[in-house]
Amino acid sequence: MVDIIKRFCIAVALGLCIGILFLGTQTAKAEEKRDLLEVEDQTFIWPTVGEISDTFGTREGKHFGIDIAALEGTPVVSAANGVVSKSYVSDTYGEVVFIEHDNGFETVYAHLHDRFVSEGQAIEGGSQLGTVGNTGRSQGNHLHFEVHDGSWNIDKSEAIDPLFVLSEKDSDRYAAWSLDSAYENDTEDSEAVYVMSNLPGMGKAGDQERNVVGQPVKMVESGDTLWSISQLYDTSIEELMEWNGLSDESIIVGDLLIVDQ
Ligand SMILES: [Zn+2]
Repeated sequence: MVDIIKRFCIAVALGLCIGILFLGTQTAKAEEKRDLLEVEDQTFIWPTVGEISDTFGTREGKHFGIDIAALEGTPVVSAANGVVSKSYVSDTYGEVVFIEHDNGFETVYAHLHDRFVSEGQAIEGGSQLGTVGNTGRSQGNHLHFEVHDGSWNIDKSEAIDPLFVLSEKDSDRYAAWSLDSAYENDTEDSEAVYVMSNLPGMGKAGDQERNVVGQPVKMVESGDTLWSISQLYDTSIEELMEWNGLSDESIIVGDLLIVDQ
């Protein structure tokens, strides 16, 4: 008899434990969801226009931002209103700008070619803070962009995936492109300009084509030839030339080439 009571007690205790565990996970899930919703309420302007060449959480979880490949000199804008918290040269980030936003977030813009803002300066969302470059620990021109739900710290523990909070509105997506940029007047690098201006979606904000992010484009790297790129993307030199309006086979490092249609 005592044995039966013992067993009964153990069963009840186990049941309680499982119940508590179950409730616990439900609550945790609800909280996660609420946090995500709060984050999603924040929308940021795209800091530049280009091809996403690397996403958040890659490199064994050590990539705490997204990379947006674009030509050197492409405008980089502040993702929201805020104050410049840092603007300096770092060994790893290169020419880098940090902005603290009114909502408590901090954003980071790294590997810049030029910086146009200094510490303590107030800046509006969509205002230019610099240009895309290849400074610091970087291979090829791109913007490394981080969003922190709180202040930046060395462990980057507050970093979130920028794609969660970047606005889907075209006016926010192409803010950097709608700035008066050097492209139209740039004669030194006319081939690159030609390719850039012919990319689908690379028109001014408000144009109908809108798919540059996620378009099958490749940035030309040193050592690339039209032949090697055609092999990589299972296409032909002729098609690449046609899609990109090239009159001969010469390509320039940093060019963005359409590689599929
Ligand atoms: Zn990066």
